[in-house]
Amino acid sequence: MTLKNRLRDVEIRLEQACERSGRNREDIQIIAVTKYVTVETVQEAVREGVTHIGENRWPNAKDKWDALKGQAVFHYIGSLQTNKVKDVVGKFEYIHSLDRLSLAEAIQSRAEALDLQVSCFLQVNVSGEISKHGLEPADVKPFLIELQKYNRIRPVGLMTMAPYESEPEATRPIFRALRQLRDDLNEMSILAEPMLELSMGMSNDFEVAVEEGATRVRLGTVLVGKEETEEG
Ligand SMILES: *Cc1c(COP(=O)(O)O)cnc(C)c1O
Repeated sequence: MTLKNRLRDVEIRLEQACERSGRNREDIQIIAVTKYVTVETVQEAVREGVTHIGENRWPNAKDKWDALKGQAVFHYIGSLQTNKVKDVVGKFEYIHSLDRLSLAEAIQSRAEALDLQVSCFLQVNVSGEISKHGLEPADVKPFLIELQKYNRIRPVGLMTMAPYESEPEATRPIFRALRQLRDDLNEMSILAEPMLELSMGMSNDFEVAVEEGATRVRLGTVLVGKEETEEG
């Protein structure tokens, strides 16, 4: 299937999920996760109008960033080591994997050096899987309070990954819990501005995530395919 056809399919499924849940399609943004595909495929996605690109490792993202800077918005969706922050801040407008203060510290100092602000999602390990990164749900509030010290970091929302389920419906409680957590935090008015965003939903479960309030879905395989030409 061509990328154009995959995009059309994804759009139909997104619109149906919106209809089922009374949401507006404009409130959900597709991030094309391009870690499994070539520069050419990323360029094709951008030509088709998908201008938000997600990558999880800088060495794999570099060629794509060089080819597309200025034409696309880059999202860093992978776990981030503090010594890699210098590669990421200033190139990726969004970081989806903020989950510890040492990382906030590194982002802050790099952002100060470059005199910019970085929009960050707090990654939360809702499922409790030990293999997954992210803050424990109960730790998000104290983390957010500490984060107030870092004036270069703009916390825009929460991010999670659901476990792979052969029946996607099984992921619903995870996404619902993330939305509830965001709403609870906003009610506590810790931040001057509420966090509006929820980065959740991947190829297998994006429709459920949209029904539960996702504002950004991170779509790899279902949208741009998997070319096996690069390591993941
Ligand atoms: C790879 C990846 C995705 C996309 O995965 P697909 O299942 O191919 O859609 C989304 N989010 C994160 C954090 C990823 O690492």
